[in-house]
Amino acid sequence: MNAEIIAVGSELLLGQIVNTNARFLSRQLAELGINVFYHTVVGDNPDRLKSAISIAQERAELIVFTGGLGPTKDDLTKDTIAGELGKKLVLDEEAMRSIELYFDKTKRVMTENNRKQALVIEGSVILKNENGMAPGMFLTTADHKYMLLPGPPSEMEPMFIKYGQEAIAGINGNQSRIESRVLRFFGIGEAALEAKIEDLIDQQSNPTIAPLAGDGEVTLRLTARADANSTAQTLIDKVEAEIMSRVGEFFYGYDETSLILELSKLLKSRNLTISAAESLTGGMFQQELTSVSGASSLFKGGIVCYSNEAKIGLVNVRPEIIENYGAVSKECAEELAVNISSIAKSDIGISFTGVAGPESLEGHQPGTVFIGVHIKGQPVHVEKLSLSGSRTAIRSRSVKFGCQLIINRLSATRK
Ligand code: ATP
Ligand code: MG
Repeated sequence: MNAEIIAVGSELLLGQIVNTNARFLSRQLAELGINVFYHTVVGDNPDRLKSAISIAQERAELIVFTGGLGPTKDDLTKDTIAGELGKKLVLDEEAMRSIELYFDKTKRVMTENNRKQALVIEGSVILKNENGMAPGMFLTTADHKYMLLPGPPSEMEPMFIKYGQEAIAGINGNQSRIESRVLRFFGIGEAALEAKIEDLIDQQSNPTIAPLAGDGEVTLRLTARADANSTAQTLIDKVEAEIMSRVGEFFYGYDETSLILELSKLLKSRNLTISAAESLTGGMFQQELTSVSGASSLFKGGIVCYSNEAKIGLVNVRPEIIENYGAVSKECAEELAVNISSIAKSDIGISFTGVAGPESLEGHQPGTVFIGVHIKGQPVHVEKLSLSGSRTAIRSRSVKFGCQLIINRLSATRK
């Protein structure tokens, strides 16, 4: 089966937003074994939408629409498609109830045009919207399948994953389950990782292996289709084991997670508390840590000690350390990590000192970073990094390295 994605919305054509829905859906459909041959973007204009539909009907079996399902005048996707297919719009009781419930919950007053959102194309399967009001729809005609999804990614993505996927897998004549698993790596570049598993990527068929890089991380998405002999999970397990035997030291988590989340989980499970003394990261580590719910049970606090005076005055670094070795040094990182853990009375102290750039500092190149980790009962450890990239990239990568460093050191001393 082949598909076309039609994104409806003038704001896309005006360049006000990026068509991330098409990217998301293309990836999802690829995993379902469906070829996406065209992406179309059309404004909120019924005539042009009609012509986009006619063109798509000529060249695609499955047509997926996003956007224009809302209550306002410019939301015309539903009406236009219904018109084109000669179908009526009918009130869906369940959608109506969930819209009323939504208004109840958010204590907002429902206006007449909100009822419009409970109108669905007759004969369609309703895709529930658990994050908004407009339901999605899936419709089958003699020659085509149509899927209508809301515009906001926060509504569209969960709807597709929970309900859309299944509807499509069902009609794709393929009842066998498709499953995928994402492996997340940090501390190794995309090219280096690919080089280590090149033969696996070359041989891939089931599961498929799709690498993706971003934010200093690399992910591998393994997608498998169950066959006569094994379930999708067993097929994925096998390839995962092979990948891990080669690059397992850089692996930190599965699917939707992050280094800070993995660190938080680990600290919580070990009942450990942490504090931080941050120079070049300016509080980024603490900001990230506190963005994870439940941080209060593991995060004691910290100090942003950007200047030498603050390192000396607030974190008790001995002045001679800075005089002899500089603020960007192993020795300074050591004192910061040890002192912050005793000031904050935490089990772990972490420190970040270095050069974010673009200028050099104390004769060090931008990207020179020292991270100190002091774990109670262990000698303090300092890692020196030579990072590249922009100021922002160096700072955010430092935070990630810090998380990974603690995770690795704690894992090495498993209780
Ligand atoms: P609403 O009920 O919010 O009006 P809708 O289904 O009518 O939803 P639109 O009005 O077309 O959707 O778009 C609402 C918002 O969703 C847009 O302002 C934009 O932020 C986001 N959005 C729409 N289409 C896309 C797209 N293709 N890619 C990414 N974001 C999109
Ligand atoms: Mg809208």
